[in-house]
Amino acid sequence: MLTDVAPSATTTHNDAVHTIVIGAGPAGLAVGACLKQAGIPCVILEQTDKVGAAWHRHYDRLHLHTAKAFSELPFVHFPKDYPRYPSRLQVIQYLEAYARKFQLAPRFDQQVISARFANNLWEVQTQDNRYQAANLVIATGYNREPYLPTWPGQASFQGVILHSSQYRNGEPFQNQKVLVVGFGNSGGEIAIDLWEHGAQPSLAVRNPVNVIPRELFGIPIEAIGIVQSKLPPRLVDALNALILRAVVGDLTRYGLRKLPHGPVTQIQRDARIPLIDVGTLKLIKHGQITVCPGIDRLTDDGVIFTDGQYGKFEAVILATGYRPRVNAFLQGGAAAHDENGTPSSSGRETALPGLYFCGYYVPPTGMLRQIAIEARRISAAITRKHIGAADK
Ligand SMILES: Cc1cc2nc3c(=O)[nH]c(=O)nc-3n(C[C@H](O)[C@H](O)[C@H](O)COP(=O)(O)OP(=O)(O)OC[C@H]3O[C@@H](n4cnc5c(N)ncnc54)[C@H](O)[C@@H]3O)c2cc1C
Repeated sequence: MLTDVAPSATTTHNDAVHTIVIGAGPAGLAVGACLKQAGIPCVILEQTDKVGAAWHRHYDRLHLHTAKAFSELPFVHFPKDYPRYPSRLQVIQYLEAYARKFQLAPRFDQQVISARFANNLWEVQTQDNRYQAANLVIATGYNREPYLPTWPGQASFQGVILHSSQYRNGEPFQNQKVLVVGFGNSGGEIAIDLWEHGAQPSLAVRNPVNVIPRELFGIPIEAIGIVQSKLPPRLVDALNALILRAVVGDLTRYGLRKLPHGPVTQIQRDARIPLIDVGTLKLIKHGQITVCPGIDRLTDDGVIFTDGQYGKFEAVILATGYRPRVNAFLQGGAAAHDENGTPSSSGRETALPGLYFCGYYVPPTGMLRQIAIEARRISAAITRKHIGAADK
């Protein structure tokens, strides 16, 4: 049973629901839809004024890197006339239609500032209201907070520094030398976008990498990952090594070092997706994107790299990823996450009763697909408890 306790006299609600979901991105919507189908009332709290807010912020060029058939939320296919890799705007349309179909009606502009377990209930505080519920599903995103590394000399740099989450497109950078920091999927695609907009992009790549094609022989790479998902990661990597080498080629001559282990081991060990190549390698091979080592420090007009070389740049774009940081609002939850606020489990009940995380496991088979699996599982667990409680 959920009751809202107003911290001030101005706002009160009285909802007879017993589950709170935080976040109206794909994970929160998927959990909401599964609960709705099971007849379990829930309230979704979202800090922005829209569903799929992260997809509104992503850069314009973005398309799904995973095929639509492997990126669906429970019960709803992507429209037939969408391409195999839907655009960012099509993903937004899909999420909006999804929320409408299940009449999810999240409570918008409600930022959760604290959530804690007290007296056998979850107490969730937004800027306006306090809620209490038996179950709490945290779906605030693996990519919640931009990660912003800093380097010596950064304050003296006269150019623009921005995180990939603030990058829209390459238009403002036409004719500029731009350094993209990080060789993840955002970094790889932003470098392409910059080149397409007439900039001169370089990529700062500090560590050894793995690169995989988006498709092999016309088959989406995550489909192959699904077929191989029951095998040990090292075996899968060994099986795929020859073919990947044939398709991707030797990258060392372009300044990229190969990780000693393969992509599936990398995902399992570091929770990091390798570069799913959508054209970056071709531009690197043609000299249109330059690969540089890691950054040692910044100067007023450029960068000194770890090999001592200097490069002049007008802008630096940090494609350095994000952190989940659930500990920014989850209090007393240390048993359920590490010291950086990354949940230690996802898709099942945690060590804390009634607490679930959805969307925090990085699989080799695509995060959206994983979110759909976890949402069904969480909903089933909550439903079982609900039925069990009703039987008593
Ligand atoms: C650039 C990019 C491309 C990606 N492409 C793919 C892809 O092709 N295929 C794939 O499978 N996966 C992809 N992913 C990974 C993943 O599927 C997406 O990040 C997806 O949006 C995750 O959904 P989510 O609901 O877990 O998190 P989000 O989409 O981040 O949603 C979380 C929601 O929680 C809200 N929120 C956060 N904190 C609070 C709070 N304190 N109170 C209230 N609300 C809060 C946010 O406003 C947001 O709306 C991509 C990720 C990125 C960054």
